[in-house]
Amino acid sequence: MIDCGFSAREAVKRLQLLNIDPASLSAILITHEHADHMAGVRVMARKFNLPVYTTPGTAGCLPEDVAPYIHAFNCHEKFVIDDIEVEPFPVPHDAREPSQFVFSDGALRVGLLTDVGSITPLIENTLSACDALLLEANHDLTMLEQGEYPEHLKRRVGGRLGHLNNVQSASLLEKIDTSRLQHIMAMHISEKNNCPSIAVPLLAEALGCEHDWIGVADQEAGFDWREVNNR
Ligand SMILES: [Zn+2]
Ligand SMILES: [Zn+2]
Repeated sequence: MIDCGFSAREAVKRLQLLNIDPASLSAILITHEHADHMAGVRVMARKFNLPVYTTPGTAGCLPEDVAPYIHAFNCHEKFVIDDIEVEPFPVPHDAREPSQFVFSDGALRVGLLTDVGSITPLIENTLSACDALLLEANHDLTMLEQGEYPEHLKRRVGGRLGHLNNVQSASLLEKIDTSRLQHIMAMHISEKNNCPSIAVPLLAEALGCEHDWIGVADQEAGFDWREVNNR
């Protein structure tokens, strides 16, 4: 499981909707210490005795009683959990030592990129040639600028250490190799500063695909299983 921003109770409920027994999880990976990524990790780790993989910087920001469960990784070195290879990479975001991931079984690669203020060459290289991609499309710049967030928060969200806007996410898709892509899921979509009806057409245009090919991770409903197939 990657991140746990819901309470443990809510996380368990959502896992069960996907027919996952929480006790069957191998580990929790934490991308960074912001509450919407780790609020439930303390209870989940203790209740289900789960190792918690994260960077040393993030580990230092987690509750003290998570410490016995921590497996700290080097953000520049791949590691393995069960039969999945995890490739972490550092990203610009206003957290202590944030990382995002590419997961591989040796044949297929699934990339995750969220909570990132700006795109780096490392991000482009690492996310090229993925078979599936979960990609932040956090805000529409105009909605953010004209919205109700206080000024400091607007600057934070829209800044180089904030979050990707729709145009940034679309231009990443234009730059990287997407020829293998079987699924894309737009995620971390702001409820106040964005709307799928704005984000989806931009991502679809970047990929040259139909709008309904772009998946959307809804904050309430999440999304169902997707299958990535060997070709
Ligand atoms: Zn977040
Ligand atoms: Zn964050």
